[in-house]
Amino acid sequence: MSDATNIDGKASAANLRAEISRKVALVKEKHGLTPGLSVILVGEDPASEVYVRNKGKATVEAGMNSNTYTMAENATHDEVMAKVEELNADPAVHGILVQLPLPEQVNEDAIINAIHPAKDVDGFHTLNVGRLNSGQDAMVPCTPVGCMVMLKEVVGDLTGKRAIVVGRSNIVGKPMAALLLKEHCTVTIAHSRTQDLAAECRRADIVIAAVGRPRMVKGNWIKPGATVIDVGINRIEDTSTKSGSRLVGDVDFNEAVKVAGAITPVPGGVGPMTIACLLKNTLTAACRQVQVPEPD
Ligand code: NDP
Repeated sequence: MSDATNIDGKASAANLRAEISRKVALVKEKHGLTPGLSVILVGEDPASEVYVRNKGKATVEAGMNSNTYTMAENATHDEVMAKVEELNADPAVHGILVQLPLPEQVNEDAIINAIHPAKDVDGFHTLNVGRLNSGQDAMVPCTPVGCMVMLKEVVGDLTGKRAIVVGRSNIVGKPMAALLLKEHCTVTIAHSRTQDLAAECRRADIVIAAVGRPRMVKGNWIKPGATVIDVGINRIEDTSTKSGSRLVGDVDFNEAVKVAGAITPVPGGVGPMTIACLLKNTLTAACRQVQVPEPD
């Protein structure tokens, strides 16, 4: 059997970003609308700083306005809340993203639910979660949306496929399962208490791994020909590289690539699509708030 098709997230993301840039130019020209994304970063977590920088850069490249508000590690809950409220009230801000995790003195749930649902481009607000799960129009979290775009590109119609989502976080696992259900998959959600995870995975035509454990999903857990989307980003030691470390996913790629029909690499798979989908959500949010149609 030949190796699995490589699902090129970088290429898909580049296409999506080009499409968004084109649409942003159109809404500017037709309606004088420049979508704006504001990001709040609390503290100095190096990984979060990199993510926020990349998001800001991509936003500007798409022709949108980008603002990042960096707050001290010891910022109080009330200070973060005040910033959210200020951005909620600003008509030039169409998307608000609070980079997680927040320091422990800040109540994460309260901050997320203080973001105006129409500006909640991460799709974490309880109202958007409820809307997604009841099949209504919602802001949907960027990583699952990105996974879905890639899945549809490679699989096409998902109706009737057996899908397993390994991981049940609010950010990835649960919204991913909701999107798969919406596409008429038969969905299993697995987690740390799942019994015989290998057997559960082997039944699936689609495996989504969102666990945060390096190379946990083995090649012999994959049904031959299945489509594998690896959300995991794990840094492992590797003395052969200049930095002494490298990124790997939650799937053992070298094993799985020999069995799967198609698979995302890490890096270069889900990661780039997440940012592209954030831009997409920001454009959608802006058009809805100003009540102009989103260009085709
Ligand atoms: P969380 O830590 O919030 O959730 C991990 C999930 O995995 C939990 O539901 C947990 O189960 C489950 N889990 C842990 N260990 C096992 C196990 N041994 N067997 C089965 N399930 C297990 O992580 P996230 O969802 O936030 O992120 C998952 C991964 O995706 C991480 O590597 C993260 O870095 C990456 N990520 C990548 C993004 C991208 O843009 N590519 C964006 C967001 C995340 P339980 O609930 O029982 O504890």
